[in-house]
Amino acid sequence: MHRVIGLKVDVDTFYGMKYGVPKISSILDDYNLKATFFIPMGKDRTGRTVKRVFTRRGFLAKARRIGVLKTYGIKNLLFGLILPGPYIAEKNLEVLIGISKKHEIGIHGYDHVFWHDKIRRMNYGETKRELEMAILKYKKLMGHEPRSFASPGWVTNVHALKILKEKNFLYSSDVRGHYPFYPVMEGESIPLIQIPTTLPTLDEVIGLHGNDHYTLLKYYERLLTDSINVMTIHAEIEGKNWSDFLKVFIEKTLSMGYEFKALIEIADGVMGENLPSAKISFGHIEGRAGEVCIQKFDSVS
Ligand SMILES: [Zn+2]
Repeated sequence: MHRVIGLKVDVDTFYGMKYGVPKISSILDDYNLKATFFIPMGKDRTGRTVKRVFTRRGFLAKARRIGVLKTYGIKNLLFGLILPGPYIAEKNLEVLIGISKKHEIGIHGYDHVFWHDKIRRMNYGETKRELEMAILKYKKLMGHEPRSFASPGWVTNVHALKILKEKNFLYSSDVRGHYPFYPVMEGESIPLIQIPTTLPTLDEVIGLHGNDHYTLLKYYERLLTDSINVMTIHAEIEGKNWSDFLKVFIEKTLSMGYEFKALIEIADGVMGENLPSAKISFGHIEGRAGEVCIQKFDSVS
């Protein structure tokens, strides 16, 4: 595939689903583009993120850099702390059904905050429970089996990969990397296509590589390859204060000859290819607090 951008829209919160998703969807409509929306199937417990301010190194600096309050809003930060968290997908059913007519819908975990904080140390049974709750809810809302999964926070474990394969998912998108591959994790090979996010997210580069559209766009331009790129955007960021950036990003990359695809189209496209195997390990990436899963450059076979 030449000059492709897979557009992965991560929805992390109730308000992101309610307001950010329709905003992004209307922008995509303007350019007649398809994307993949990954949505948590459980409740919004963003408020628990507040705890991270005290527990995770680097979060405070980043919170200051991107303006957490401005991005998420005070009410959202209280969900899960003192306000009961609403179901992100189920309580926005009209939005969900609306976008499912044009775009691909994937599962972004059950409880986003819980997954992000705990998945690394969860055993097979705990991981399976979390995934089965998400799959059950997806089937209830969508009326068919899910095929697409993306881990919250780019963290996963070997059990999750195996369970997704057993449950007939077509691919998962859990890591940061450079090209689709078959994952090897903790010494185990899992024959489930892994589609990594190849570009940094906007919240990782704002303030570090630019503050205005022009400079940020130049930065992305340098990172794009002539092959498959995957850009993750957020309902809470590009669907809110940074929606104009999404427009200029789309216009610029279209003018450069990039074709936008949903991730499932990319998975379909690479399926016949002799995809490389690569190890998944944990590491830090610039602009993001905590460790994420990373595709190792040296392929294994
Ligand atoms: Zn997320």
